[in-house]
Amino acid sequence: MNTPTIDLSHRGVPQNDWTTVVHGLPEFDATLHQRLVVVAPHPDDETLGVGGLIAETSRRRVPVMIVSVSDGEAAPVPGSTPIELAIRRRDELRLASARLCVAGAVDVQRWALPDGRLTEVEREITTRLRRLVQPGDLVVGTLPGDGHPDHEAVGRAVHAMVATPGVSVAFYPVWSWHWHDPARSSVAANGRVVQLSAAALRAKLDALQAYASQTTGDVPVLPAHFVQRFDRPYEVLVPAEIAIAA
Ligand SMILES: [Zn+2]
Repeated sequence: MNTPTIDLSHRGVPQNDWTTVVHGLPEFDATLHQRLVVVAPHPDDETLGVGGLIAETSRRRVPVMIVSVSDGEAAPVPGSTPIELAIRRRDELRLASARLCVAGAVDVQRWALPDGRLTEVEREITTRLRRLVQPGDLVVGTLPGDGHPDHEAVGRAVHAMVATPGVSVAFYPVWSWHWHDPARSSVAANGRVVQLSAAALRAKLDALQAYASQTTGDVPVLPAHFVQRFDRPYEVLVPAEIAIAA
């Protein structure tokens, strides 16, 4: 699809427009799998998109793996070189993951592929995921159609896992909440809701606080009005069997 330029400086789609749509969606049964594998293009996507699901899963003592495909070194953070930013965001991911998961029990895989250029290494992402997934996994990645080229590349690579026996695949929106038209979005048409407990939401919000490189500064990469979207007691997954067709 055409990738729009996402401008976070304006407030985007009103939250209430989504609330109405999400209210009518069926629930996603997230209790059937034996492991949750979250594939995140950049450190923070896992928390923004499915931090609550990660927390709920960990609380049920189901293993969680987070795959951080890039270190997010290309984000426009003044005063940081890409190497400095990569190190900082790795530390933020470590802290956020520990806050999401009970006793910090989480397997974090860092692939350090090139931020901003994941489309160029999409085949490698797919190959690595094929080696990693196993029967009983629920594998979630960013939604194809989310509007950021890296998110879309990861979404397509994750979608390739649908052919793996015993593996379930679903997608989480991140940028879509800001710019999709709720009346026409695949999130609204095909989404399934994951309800979050108060404890899971609290863990998610604590984890988001770890990402100071993205949420603080004179012009934060993620402005407050964007981050506030994720302070709500639900997340939405789009199952793979209907996401691509939408
Ligand atoms: Zn991202």
